[in-house]
Amino acid sequence: MDIIVKERDTFSLYSQLFSVPLDLIVDSNPDADPNVLMIGQAVKIPGYTIWQYTIQQGDTFWTIHNRFSIPIQRLRFVNPLIPPQSLRIGSIIRIPARLDNQPLIRAKEYGFNELERDIDQIKSAYPFITATEIGSSVEGRPIYMLKLGEGSRRVQWNASFHANEWITTPILMSLLNEHLWHLTNTESNSHKERFKTYSECSLYVIAMVNPDGVNLVVEGPTEENRESVVAINNGSDDFSGWKANINGVDLNDQFPAGWELEKERTKVTSPSSRDFSGNAPLDQPESQAMAELANQIPFDMMIALHTQGAEFYWGYEGLEPAISQLYASLFSELSGYRSVRYVDSHAGYKDWFILEFRKPGFTFELGKGVNPLPLNQFSEIYDAMNPVFIQSIKGIT
Ligand SMILES: [Zn+2]
Repeated sequence: MDIIVKERDTFSLYSQLFSVPLDLIVDSNPDADPNVLMIGQAVKIPGYTIWQYTIQQGDTFWTIHNRFSIPIQRLRFVNPLIPPQSLRIGSIIRIPARLDNQPLIRAKEYGFNELERDIDQIKSAYPFITATEIGSSVEGRPIYMLKLGEGSRRVQWNASFHANEWITTPILMSLLNEHLWHLTNTESNSHKERFKTYSECSLYVIAMVNPDGVNLVVEGPTEENRESVVAINNGSDDFSGWKANINGVDLNDQFPAGWELEKERTKVTSPSSRDFSGNAPLDQPESQAMAELANQIPFDMMIALHTQGAEFYWGYEGLEPAISQLYASLFSELSGYRSVRYVDSHAGYKDWFILEFRKPGFTFELGKGVNPLPLNQFSEIYDAMNPVFIQSIKGIT
């Protein structure tokens, strides 16, 4: 929400009035000098939106305050020119409303368009978050990364490496959305705990690693790719079992950590809806982007979201650091998911992350059932992962 600076306004005043931490107001307005606010200048208050409301018979600031549960000072503050004693029927006033923290699912499915829409909304609602593109997919869709906080502990969460596991994207986006809500709301009961992490941890969220594959599963083939994907899919136009990127390469089988062993194990030698590890490690733009990202940013932890199995994997060839085990028992306790040290596979992002950086890496298999998991599992998965999300940002101290 934008408000216009008036005489004697300060960021501290806004912070108190709207119950938003001062630091987050400052970080939402990088171009403003907090010590020299100019009258008439627009300032962003994170976590809020403005509704327009038309005054009806009998309305007073008091009745409006009651109806919308909004403190009267806030109402008066964003409507400075409206005399509170004499509201005119039919005139429009502004209602400063805190955004909600509800899960970001509105449609039946969640594809690339939904992701872009939610990223836009989150960026405008919480301007202290940054969005960048770490690369683009085979069909040219951006692979977005959201970043929050400036702390020295760096934590990466990613989702939708696998196309028909797209439910992981709205799960991750909703975890982030709720986190932002608590972060900006000093009245929330988990504000303190979460806000502490803002200065200690930098959180990186890549919510859709495989946008082309997700869109194939969610929206079906396009005119341009129909012929090739149907051929890869053995002539079928049912793409519900499709895990790969649009070239028929399994992006989570692409990393240089036992890549040859994985190729032997899966025995898939050509493009396929699943399990083809490519003609060489990292020969797809999406896996390349994810490898480059980890080479550039020294992540202290990485969590990859997949479905399904209600379990998670955290080891690779004994190379995982000792602290991985501590996190694993904590995560298992918090989520109720089964902790599994080793699985019989190679070349996954988690495998490579552990091999290359010797930092804790996790592959979570969310929910239980047949992929793509139905959205009616959303709440259960969400409740399992929310405490893991918070813990990962807090770290173990
Ligand atoms: Zn998967």
